[in-house]
Amino acid sequence: MQNDNIWQAVLGEIELSISHGNFITWFKNTCLLSNNSGVITIGVTNVFIKQQLENKFCDLIIKLLTKNGLKVKSVEFKIYNFVGNKNTDDEPIKSNQSSLKTISKQTNSNSLSHSYRQGLNEKYTFDNFIVGDGNELAFAACQAIASQPGTRYNPLFIYGGVGIGKTHLIQAVGNALVKDKNFSKVLYISTEQFVQEFVDALRFRKTADFASYYRTADVLIVDDVQFIAGKEKMQEEFFHTFNALHQANKQIIISSDKPPKDIPTLEERLRSRFAWGMSIDMQNPDFETRCAIIQTKAAEQNIELPADVVDYLSTNIQTNIRELEGALNQLLAFCEMRALDPTLSIVSSLFSSIKNRPKHLSAKQIVEKTARYFQIQLEEILGSKRDKDIVMPRQVAMYILRNELHLSFPKIAKELGRKDHTTAIHSVEKIEKEAKINMDLKKAINDITDKLYV
Ligand code: ADP
Ligand code: MG
Repeated sequence: MQNDNIWQAVLGEIELSISHGNFITWFKNTCLLSNNSGVITIGVTNVFIKQQLENKFCDLIIKLLTKNGLKVKSVEFKIYNFVGNKNTDDEPIKSNQSSLKTISKQTNSNSLSHSYRQGLNEKYTFDNFIVGDGNELAFAACQAIASQPGTRYNPLFIYGGVGIGKTHLIQAVGNALVKDKNFSKVLYISTEQFVQEFVDALRFRKTADFASYYRTADVLIVDDVQFIAGKEKMQEEFFHTFNALHQANKQIIISSDKPPKDIPTLEERLRSRFAWGMSIDMQNPDFETRCAIIQTKAAEQNIELPADVVDYLSTNIQTNIRELEGALNQLLAFCEMRALDPTLSIVSSLFSSIKNRPKHLSAKQIVEKTARYFQIQLEEILGSKRDKDIVMPRQVAMYILRNELHLSFPKIAKELGRKDHTTAIHSVEKIEKEAKINMDLKKAINDITDKLYV
């Protein structure tokens, strides 16, 4: 394997073993700079991240580099200027891709090897999930399933907005079953990955392998099933998988951003099966629960936050827990870098702009504001012209849709009037890459994003 593939593989595994917020904070801009006879140099953006990686993650990195085939003598961290070092001899391998990409890269191979992991992230447990108004019903159902899988709520269908803890909770069930019940084949898969694997299986004529792999699971956990909308063949395959598992009393857990009745172009027979068991609406937790979550996440990093700081974050970041966790990480990084203790005045100056953010931002607003920023007409950004000054804003709009609203690629394509979702994938990747080296572009994205929230 080449260095870039190795680093992507390492990042893929790290992403599965730590929380999303931590992954973004510590590993977002990292790269494998060089390997000199086993002395591995990892590039990072600042001294704070360097220290954190040295102190907290060095062993894990060495372990994973070794696992991926490198003979490691030592690992060093070097502050690396990503902007100025474009195309140097040791062209770095950046971590600008999500693990999804890493996964699809691996599954693109002919072998369709499933053995490397079952998709579970050990960090998501019941123990570190804070229960309160908004998630207690979902929590109780998940615990019941962990103690008696396949019997009561089958399937369990959990739905709710982004970042409110669905993935955490359904992974916690999987982890509990592996740990406490010694279940050997608990499979967790995101629907985007599920679809990608299915497409690969079709392409490489391995559909029988695909089917038997999933139909022999002890427990199947399918995350974000809304992405199955409009994919007829996949729905048919899933229908048969569902039946096989359900008949054998194997537990099925499904999550979605909306209830089955609101998922467009979902086949009726799947819709009705999803309603066979129990459907639970999960909400953003209430104020007290959000406070408890912030305190717990800070305590995990050995930091005790003053009550007014906790209060401020919980009051002002109400969108979802993912954002709350991101804000906390930003605050802690800011303070640690300057050797300050977090205070109300620091937190309020850092997040004053967030305070006024509207809770609901639509895809349409993003497209309109992007067009306006680049001074082109809405019809042009949505139209078919391929001129450079229209294509670039269109790609930027797709990038912002992905980052701010976490829309699926098919949905992003649709919002921009495109039929083919690969255009959206390509655009988002292109802008992501380019924004790292083109400061004008980066500034434009920041300006547009800021404007969205005023
Ligand atoms: P979703 O799948 O609904 O989009 P996630 O499960 O990815 O959301 O949650 C986003 C982040 O918030 C994760 O890091 C998760 O650990 C954290 N989180 C959400 N709810 C809770 C909770 N009740 N207790 C602790 N952490 C939580
Ligand atoms: Mg999720």
